[in-house]
Amino acid sequence: MSAARPPIHTLTLEELETWLTAAGEPKYRAGQLAQWLYAKRAKSFGAMTDQPAALRERLAAEFLCDALEQVRVLGSEDTTRKYLFRLADGALIESVLIPASPALYGEPSDRRTLCVSTQVGCAYGCKFCASGLDGFARNLGPHEIVGQFLRVEELSGEKINNLVFMGMGEPLANFAHLMKAIAILNAPWGLGVGARHITISTSGLAPQIRQLAEQPLQVRLAVSLHGATDEVRQQIMPVNRKYPVAELLAACAFYTERKKQRITFEYILIEGVNDRPEDAAALARLVRKVNAKVNCIPYNIVEGLDWKRPSERRQDDFMAVLENARVPATIRREKGHDIAAACGQLRRQTMSPS
Ligand code: SAH
Ligand code: SF4
Repeated sequence: MSAARPPIHTLTLEELETWLTAAGEPKYRAGQLAQWLYAKRAKSFGAMTDQPAALRERLAAEFLCDALEQVRVLGSEDTTRKYLFRLADGALIESVLIPASPALYGEPSDRRTLCVSTQVGCAYGCKFCASGLDGFARNLGPHEIVGQFLRVEELSGEKINNLVFMGMGEPLANFAHLMKAIAILNAPWGLGVGARHITISTSGLAPQIRQLAEQPLQVRLAVSLHGATDEVRQQIMPVNRKYPVAELLAACAFYTERKKQRITFEYILIEGVNDRPEDAAALARLVRKVNAKVNCIPYNIVEGLDWKRPSERRQDDFMAVLENARVPATIRREKGHDIAAACGQLRRQTMSPS
């Protein structure tokens, strides 16, 4: 019977209303239910004490109200913390909680970012990434995406005010569930995270970038470029064969135009692959075409893969080329390097303990 019960955290307010109306209940109970689920964080229908007992029983018979099961947590307060969760079918996923300003200047951080997963594994197989190493298992449901937020807030006792879809998986390959999860995360009746505080990262699915541009929500878009020419990019990202740089760039231009919003290109610096000064010059030319900005990330070593992070000197030289070309660019010296923070790594360690 439980296999047939959908999780309650997959329903929008409208869908709750539809269900309640069909069940002969007043519509206003949908707002009350949403409040129990997202404001009061009820973990069972039994806890919803102002609801009639018969309705609570009926809800429990029709829906699941489960939280994600925590398997491991790495890191500690004031640092990057990584959570490993087991889903109902046994699959493992990760979420990473990142404080914005580490206590370097002695002030507490007021902005906490959660990096969420959208799939179990990933089908895109970027050569440098731990998430793609074991292939793709399945899409996450909206409740499993929203569930990461709920559970990490609960376990950490912190309020999350920023969301990045940069965990395991390709968010735009799970488009419908992603949109539904974002609707719940963003809604005033849901978790109330502002759209401008939500960033979707994609490896460059051009058609879905255009589709996202047609959505009303002003979420932010980050595109994992990692190479400014087809030659460089397809060495490390098989997706480039399907959507080459020119096609990806056209989709990015469309997005920028539609949304009147600047996108960010993510660019991992990998020694000897994409870190030459001429790579930086090619990147600068490309970025200027769509008025984007660049976020460089020194490669995070993945166990079992041979890619290396360039020296700091080499990183600085790369950034200097971008700066001279007047391209807005930042470099993110990775937080959480020590706790296998690149996506997919903790899961691999747990699946195959060596
Ligand atoms: N699939 C989406 C989102 C998840 S990956 C995407 O590819 O954009 C989030 C980001 O982490 C991407 O920019 C990805 O390229 C980057 N990443 C993956 N492995 C990494 C590693 N070992 N070191 C640094 N960044 C990595
Ligand atoms: Fe998938 Fe993104 Fe990793 Fe590429 S970088 S394998 S798209 S999760």
